[in-house]
Amino acid sequence: MGSYVGIWEAWAVNPEIRHRGSSGGVLTAIQSWLLTSGAITQVATAAADPQQPVRTVPVRIVSREEALAAAGSRYAPVGVGSIASLDPTHAITAKPCEASAIRALSGGRIGETPLLLSFFCAGTPSQHATERLVHDLGGPAPEEITDLWYRGRGWPGRFTAVFDGGQVSTDYDSSWGQALGPTTQWRCKICPDGIGEAADIAAADSWDSDDRGYPTFGEQEGRSALIARTERGRAVVLAAQEAGVIELHPLEPERLARAQPLQTSRRQFLAARLWATRLGGRSVPRYRGFGLTWLSLAQPRIALRTFRGTLRRLRGTKQGGIQ
Ligand SMILES: Cc1cc2nc3c(=O)[nH]c(=O)nc-3n(C[C@H](O)[C@H](O)[C@H](O)COP(=O)(O)OP(=O)(O)OC[C@H]3O[C@@H](n4cnc5c(N)ncnc54)[C@H](O)[C@@H]3O)c2cc1C
Repeated sequence: MGSYVGIWEAWAVNPEIRHRGSSGGVLTAIQSWLLTSGAITQVATAAADPQQPVRTVPVRIVSREEALAAAGSRYAPVGVGSIASLDPTHAITAKPCEASAIRALSGGRIGETPLLLSFFCAGTPSQHATERLVHDLGGPAPEEITDLWYRGRGWPGRFTAVFDGGQVSTDYDSSWGQALGPTTQWRCKICPDGIGEAADIAAADSWDSDDRGYPTFGEQEGRSALIARTERGRAVVLAAQEAGVIELHPLEPERLARAQPLQTSRRQFLAARLWATRLGGRSVPRYRGFGLTWLSLAQPRIALRTFRGTLRRLRGTKQGGIQ
């Protein structure tokens, strides 16, 4: 789960924000409180394109209403970094890769950068996957969609596309698990940080697990895992609790790790995947400081299986990536 100075289970105290949010609505609650209290002047993040809601665009938000409108995960490509500034009176809510890029761009200095909020990220699905899913559910052409959300409005909530005359929707397991998740780009599959290590604060789903340890997605009131990765992040989280904006409860990091098998196994066997990719003649990024080699060597049988599986999938695919 990376390094941290505080870890909790959390949710927005305001029921509207908790319901609207992807899990517990904590990122929206913190953003909207920081804006209304004047602690920050704007947040760069992502939301549905108002002109074409089937798409996702970067947005600057300055009010509680705008924060609420942007709540919820957008499982589609979007570049928040394109509108972000390095002003320390701003905040940025973005994928871990963007938080990491912004931290690097600012020389790694904490306090002299915008407040960085992020979330666990399994990867960015293709935009085509959203449009295909709407089509497969019996919805109209993309330009006829008047609103679209991927989840939230419940936890985990339903993928829903609205159009003149009706809406189509499906549950989280089918939308993320079968339609969107399988289309995440190859670059995400060899990402060492799906957990927002460069952020001041990272949020995740605090799923329950079944007897076999797999996360379960039954509808219930939203609960996020909230991780403060810097002292600045912890101060914000504790002040938000003090102000009655979020509720915090103890969370064992082991429980969070169990509820996030994709994150733990991706990092554990990433070195094996990278070795196979290199052997297959493809270039891969160089990652330092994640201890990837040791993680893979600690479980050699599974690492070998991952290595072979990656090599197999590399065969017959075009240069540049594998699915
Ligand atoms: C691509 C993607 C992959 C994810 N993978 C995981 C995962 O592996 N494990 C897990 O536990 N959770 C994952 N999530 C969900 C994420 O963890 C939840 O958003 C998190 O639980 C925060 O919930 P919340 O209710 O506090 O957030 P909310 O209060 O709903 O706030 C979410 C904030 O994130 C912003 N946002 C939404 N989508 C994007 C985007 N694509 N780019 C930039 N900003 C965005 C919104 O504008 C909003 O400000 C993923 C989300 C995304 C978008």
